[in-house]
Amino acid sequence: MSVSHIHDFPQNRLTFGRNNAFHKELRRRVDDYFRSSGRSQRDCPAMYLKTAIILAVFSAFYLLLVFVAGAWWQALPVAVVLGLSMAGIGFNIEHDGSHNSYSNHAWINRLAAMTMDLIGASSYVWHWKHVVVHHTYVNITGHDADIDISFFGRLTPHQKRFSFHRWQQFYLWPLYGLNVIKWHLYDDFRDVILGRIGPTRIPRPKRWELAGFAGGKVVFLTLAFGLPLLVHPLWIVLLFYALTVCLAGVVTSVVFQLAHCVEEAEFPMPQENSDSIESAWAVHQVETTVDFARRSRVESWLLGGLNFQIEHHLFPRVCHVNYPAISNLVEQACRDFGVRYGEHNSFRAGLSSHFRWLRRMGARTAGSPPSSRMLVVAPDYGPAE
Ligand SMILES: [Zn+2]
Repeated sequence: MSVSHIHDFPQNRLTFGRNNAFHKELRRRVDDYFRSSGRSQRDCPAMYLKTAIILAVFSAFYLLLVFVAGAWWQALPVAVVLGLSMAGIGFNIEHDGSHNSYSNHAWINRLAAMTMDLIGASSYVWHWKHVVVHHTYVNITGHDADIDISFFGRLTPHQKRFSFHRWQQFYLWPLYGLNVIKWHLYDDFRDVILGRIGPTRIPRPKRWELAGFAGGKVVFLTLAFGLPLLVHPLWIVLLFYALTVCLAGVVTSVVFQLAHCVEEAEFPMPQENSDSIESAWAVHQVETTVDFARRSRVESWLLGGLNFQIEHHLFPRVCHVNYPAISNLVEQACRDFGVRYGEHNSFRAGLSSHFRWLRRMGARTAGSPPSSRMLVVAPDYGPAE
């Protein structure tokens, strides 16, 4: 997708509507909840326990795969668990760390964020790509890098359609996995060398940041190739690297896609001849995001609260273990202000919606923006009477 302009952070190219009544009231209700319940927003014991469990599973299955499994039928299930634990680290540990929502201590957040380097991707690039660009410009075509997978797929109504996109609802799934290999071995280096993510300039890492970037890559490449090559032939190492990382990649990409790349999400564009988005920032976050499986405790635990992405986008500095508790407050506030609160009852329902969205975007007749039947936002976002 070609983008004609480049913009820099921290100065934002796009602005949002100025009516912040919804956001203010929402913040007041959620602050009230934390004050009256005595629960803490960060440094939650459940989070430290979860981190220990996931890192223990990851380490144990890595050692089993590299040094113990002797036959393919042993290695395969071990690689599956290892891949899932890598996704688990991304969902549960690094994501909160990168948003500074893990702890009130900067060094703990940094340490948690650096688990991203451990599983292959640079935490430095992720900070800019996800925390800054994606969270600010969610679902805005040409700005949000998460919805730009170049010509491979058409994820929004504002992207160019190629005839082969008519099959994208089938071929994109394995590409989500392969894309992660490209991300580890190429995209991170390209972004740092060019100092740019899509159309957005990012600062190149300096001193400690650069050391962290390089050190993270060295650690990952040693774990993925260096150590395994001491005990296995090259083709086995490459095969199991690809299998494990692709599985982690497919699971991670799909979980993130269910939040923004489904039929119920909006894909707003700046108003004509301007750099302004009509909705206020908080309204934009809700309109472009969809929750799923809110009542499933198992999925909430495993997915690091990424089934509560509306809550995450509104309160990215609140630790994800608190999302189930505040989601009813968010839903009620949306109802009071006439902002659509989109959700799927289950992971499967979200998955089907993602499939249908890909099919719609790739269809020959594609081109129209999302249906307005999903948009029930009151014109001025004031409290409903
Ligand atoms: Zn996030």
